[in-house]
Amino acid sequence: MSDTDRQSALAALVAALPELDWIKEAPKVKRLSRDFHWFSPVLKPQLEEKFAELAVRPRDEQELKSIVAACARQRVPLNLRGGGTGNYGQLIPLNGGLMVDMTRLNSVTAMGQGSVRAQAGIRLGDLETHTRPFGWELRCMPSTWKLATLGGLFGGGFGGVGSVNYGPLAAPGNVLSVRMMTMEETPRILTLQAPDALLLHHAYGSNGIVTEIELALAPVTPGLSVLIPLLILLRQWHLPMRWHDRQVW
Ligand SMILES: Cc1cc2nc3c(=O)[nH]c(=O)nc-3n(C[C@H](O)[C@H](O)[C@H](O)COP(=O)(O)OP(=O)(O)OC[C@H]3O[C@@H](n4cnc5c(N)ncnc54)[C@H](O)[C@@H]3O)c2cc1C
Repeated sequence: MSDTDRQSALAALVAALPELDWIKEAPKVKRLSRDFHWFSPVLKPQLEEKFAELAVRPRDEQELKSIVAACARQRVPLNLRGGGTGNYGQLIPLNGGLMVDMTRLNSVTAMGQGSVRAQAGIRLGDLETHTRPFGWELRCMPSTWKLATLGGLFGGGFGGVGSVNYGPLAAPGNVLSVRMMTMEETPRILTLQAPDALLLHHAYGSNGIVTEIELALAPVTPGLSVLIPLLILLRQWHLPMRWHDRQVW
């Protein structure tokens, strides 16, 4: 598709779905087209000039479905973005097109005994804020947990804190099921149970859009979140100095 044809197709998308939250300003679209690929001296020059031409932020699954259907009809490239923390350029649009920011699809849809199901755009920190009061935490938490989304971790990530006990995200028992949308003129919604659900893991959105993920959880361990505030408190009380006075060290 030529650049001109793609521009007309994108304009047709906006005209057909005016109620959506479109992002058209070039600096904003460029920012949404970035991840951390610039860590790599190999990728940086290759991806420097690659951007989407338009972005959109669907507010629910129905909006996402209408975007996907319209892109499939118009043959416009569709790229998915979670938190944009991937460091291998997985979300960089190689042929322009539309960037779909998934971060508004961020609800927790079910909380069980030792499991949770949530929409793919939820940030991992927000997801754990939801599970902790029930006594459960995520089994693996990447260091980017504040920004990274559930769908992005599944689509492009590997593991994190907790993986020593539970293995990487793809280890059996961690991901229980995935709800996905196919990229077709009439998008289908499918639910895949593990192990089939893992067919979408590390696929970077290329074989379907992940809309919800069901994860197994770990019991909360009162670890660092308790220890660090305690150490700060002790420091404030100058306990080490008092111990020093008493020649403890
Ligand atoms: C400093 C730093 C530290 C990191 N530490 C870790 C770590 O400890 N462990 C780890 O595993 N990774 C780590 N990463 C890599 C990255 O943070 C993880 O891969 C992260 O989980 C990606 O989530 P995201 O929401 O930012 O994904 P994005 O970067 O937004 O997307 C990642 C990929 O998933 C695709 N995608 C996004 N949403 C969906 C969806 N709903 N359906 C289908 N595909 C989708 C995107 O198109 C892209 O291909 C680190 C990266 C950086 C820069």
